[in-house]
Amino acid sequence: MGLQLDLPTVLLLYKTALVAGALSIFHVSRHSCRPRGFRPLAAAYLLLAIGAELAGQGEYQMLPLWLWTHTSLLLGTLGYALFWAGVRALSGRRRIPLPVLAAVPGGWLALGISTQFPLDNLLRAGAFHLTAAVALLASAHEVWRDRHTEPLPSRGLLAGLLLASAGIFALQLFLIATQATSPLGFARAFYALMFCHFGVALVVSSLSNERAEVRLQKVAQTDTLTGIGNRRWAMSMLPAQLPVGSAIAQLDLDHFKHINDHFGHAAGDRVLQAAAEALGNQLRGSDLLARWGGEEFLVYLPDAPTEHATAVAQRLCSAVAQIELSERGERIPVTVSIGLACVTRSGGPWADWLGAADQALYDAKRAGRNRVVVAPERRA
Ligand code: GH3
Ligand code: MG
Ligand code: MG
Repeated sequence: MGLQLDLPTVLLLYKTALVAGALSIFHVSRHSCRPRGFRPLAAAYLLLAIGAELAGQGEYQMLPLWLWTHTSLLLGTLGYALFWAGVRALSGRRRIPLPVLAAVPGGWLALGISTQFPLDNLLRAGAFHLTAAVALLASAHEVWRDRHTEPLPSRGLLAGLLLASAGIFALQLFLIATQATSPLGFARAFYALMFCHFGVALVVSSLSNERAEVRLQKVAQTDTLTGIGNRRWAMSMLPAQLPVGSAIAQLDLDHFKHINDHFGHAAGDRVLQAAAEALGNQLRGSDLLARWGGEEFLVYLPDAPTEHATAVAQRLCSAVAQIELSERGERIPVTVSIGLACVTRSGGPWADWLGAADQALYDAKRAGRNRVVVAPERRA
């Protein structure tokens, strides 16, 4: 014998799931690093729960017919309009103006008062299911369309749950339209919706956690002063074995201690920022530039044979020498020394190649600074 689902019990579970979902989303909104959209979504869950409760009370004839039919339709359609607006804001889109948001539930209300159609159970259910299906489909679309701008694992699951909810409402709408629906069908549909809606609330929480993680990782891997990646980031990005045809360079600003001593630490900071910007302007998106420490930078060129890598390093050197900065009317002389190691015959751990670049940097300093020295070719 199969499980018997009776509509009042399922509706009770459904309302409980909506209230629990509202509480969970509201709780997340208080701790989220980007709380936009969470509160409208929590409010939507509550409105839907109240609407379902009113409809339930009405079925038991506890309220006048006109009151519960019009009000439950208003709350249900307003709930789903707000649901869509909340998901949209949550996903990163602009807020919906209130009049636009109120247009659909307001329209149904006006139509309902003038024609009294909500008094008919099937017509009222049809209007509610149509609004819900469209709002959920639009919500799924909002979440899915932003997957490239903010690629988080939760997006796919969230879009899937929203789409499944829209599908359930659409199927019910079809059954209502063909008058093939039954109380058992409604019970099953709301049972499935309970899972989907509660699932949405859970996934919304994990979306918020994923955002916090991305943000933390970004902070941990970014150099605060220059805004470029730091040593931790560079180490995570460098391939364990540098491939043949790549090159790595160690850069060190010249006489930086003197710049600090003579022009002040703040001027030194400006030099570091200008150097990072000048270096970045000379590189391609696939190249790697990081602040390795103090006044040292690291550049990794993944696809640069010796001649090309040497030319890039020369360009980096000249770009830094052309930095125009002054302090109290005096020009700050900024130059950099660069040690370059080109991976020619065989690959190897990046630390080995960086060691070779560091040695070349030392040679560049000894040879008078403001120059590029290429490390001698290593034997395979
Ligand atoms: P060389 O040409 O041989 O490289 O000489 P140098 O003076 O650049 O070398 P040194 O390593 O002695 O000096 C590095 C200085 O960089 C010392 C340190 O105070 C300064 N420094 C490190 N980090 C920062 C920073 O974030 N801001 C500023 N303003 N100075 C920094
Ligand atoms: Mg140094
Ligand atoms: Mg230095």
